[in-house]
Amino acid sequence: MLCALAAAPTLAQSARPLRVVASFSILADIVRNVGGDDVEVAALVGPGADAHVFQPSPADALRLAQAQLVLINGLGFEGWLDRLVSASGYRGPVVVASKGIAARLRGSEPDPHAWQDLSNAVRYAENVRDALSLARPASTAHFEQRAAIYIQQFQALDDKVRARFFAVSKDSRKIITSHGAFGYFGAAYGVEFLAPQGMSTDSEASAAVVARLIDQIRHQDVRAIFVENITDPRLVERIAREGGAAVGGRLYSDALSPPGTEADTYLKLFAHNALTITSALSAGQH
Ligand SMILES: [Zn+2]
Repeated sequence: MLCALAAAPTLAQSARPLRVVASFSILADIVRNVGGDDVEVAALVGPGADAHVFQPSPADALRLAQAQLVLINGLGFEGWLDRLVSASGYRGPVVVASKGIAARLRGSEPDPHAWQDLSNAVRYAENVRDALSLARPASTAHFEQRAAIYIQQFQALDDKVRARFFAVSKDSRKIITSHGAFGYFGAAYGVEFLAPQGMSTDSEASAAVVARLIDQIRHQDVRAIFVENITDPRLVERIAREGGAAVGGRLYSDALSPPGTEADTYLKLFAHNALTITSALSAGQH
């Protein structure tokens, strides 16, 4: 088996972290948690940035060219990916982290924001674990162990979030955010999210939709209004003002916050959003 021996990596090669590129910051954090020291992960769309309108640069193509594994969300989230992959010359695997998740549909289009449900995040972590194991079989046990611990953290947080929502009245759970990023969150915890923009941020909100939202606030049909970290807050602020209500805070929709701040990991992001929403729903409850 001389050729097999020759093909086996040296110790130094196998000890080098696997170079992974994730399409956006939330997925990069999931990869970091499952991969630990065995991976080195970079995000194309970083903290606070909007993947819907991302325009890759030559530096992104270079980063992709040097990657050994690329992980994306899928469900139509990264419309710019195919062109970037061909521009970069990257020939390795491109793995869809949302594989196996039952997508919510709006019309015929899948809602890409599946990470806004912790039970879907379990599937993301499993898909990441499997992709990393395939790319670095020697570390499979390590990835399995880390993924199992991480998934337990999702389940513990989900229990906590469910308990918080259980304590909030079932009526008037309507909330306004900038774009339709919280359909999965709403379905998981029984909240209805309204938004001036649709599932993507790449088109303008229609005047009719904006007028309807203002009307709903005036009729006190909406319990809370939030801006998002990835979108310009001015439209939501105007809707709140014209409806005679205040903005209740900021939600993290499609990206983490910068390192060292309140939502710099997926788990912190989710806990922050849940706490912010339940606090707003509880305020003024009789
Ligand atoms: Zn979005």
